[in-house]
Amino acid sequence: MTKGTQLYEGKAKKVYATEDPEVCIVSYKDDATAFNGLKKGTIHGKGAINNKLTNYLMKRLEAEAGIPTHYINELSETDTEVKKVKIIPLEVIVRNVIAGSLSKRLGAPEGTALKCPVLEFCYKNDELGDPMVNDYHILAMGWATAEELETVKDYALRINSYLLKFFKGIGIDLIDFKLEFGKTSDGTMVLADEISPDTCRFWDSETHEKLDKDRFRRDLGDVEGAYKEMLKRVFGEGR
Ligand code: UDP
Repeated sequence: MTKGTQLYEGKAKKVYATEDPEVCIVSYKDDATAFNGLKKGTIHGKGAINNKLTNYLMKRLEAEAGIPTHYINELSETDTEVKKVKIIPLEVIVRNVIAGSLSKRLGAPEGTALKCPVLEFCYKNDELGDPMVNDYHILAMGWATAEELETVKDYALRINSYLLKFFKGIGIDLIDFKLEFGKTSDGTMVLADEISPDTCRFWDSETHEKLDKDRFRRDLGDVEGAYKEMLKRVFGEGR
């Protein structure tokens, strides 16, 4: 499979067409943005790390949690073949511990455990700043049917259970993360986008050190080191 015309360029990835209309190639970049594009930078080696982590986690989610994903085949350090999907225009956020925008919204300190996972939806729209929406908005705007929405919720919570346990096993607390889903041409709902330190909050279970994009967002230093540490935790020793 070879890269054809570029279909899309996002903040952290480019997407290309291929000779197969059902297959795209995603190419991960080292570019980083935060605060809706206001802050820009480069995280050296990020593209390769996010590609490898995402593919590994998607394979395990398919095999061990029964979650359909867009993953097909890793082509190189930064490039991967994925199923062509129509993205549901929602950011699906799952939270286990209060952090980031939820801390501000609820006036509760970061690090406060939640009694049960919290699911949130944001409408994917940069001009509007990805506003939070609920089930009613989603159904009323036709972004998903009731059945599709139930599937998305079920998958998101199952992904959370699987990943919580997986990361706990390598000494990482999964604080919160963002997922995106899409539909293939036959209407199957699949997990798309990425699962990486760009889209998840990872805190070391012992030291509570942040090992994710918050190091870039908040100028905490050693951003590259944090991404490399996540790669080492996931692929180190016997994995
Ligand atoms: N997130 C993301 N993309 C976004 C917004 C959020 O990947 O456009 C992730 C973020 O990395 C975190 C989780 O979703 O793991 C919850 O983010 P939050 O709503 O707290 O927003 P933030 O504090 O990042 O603005």
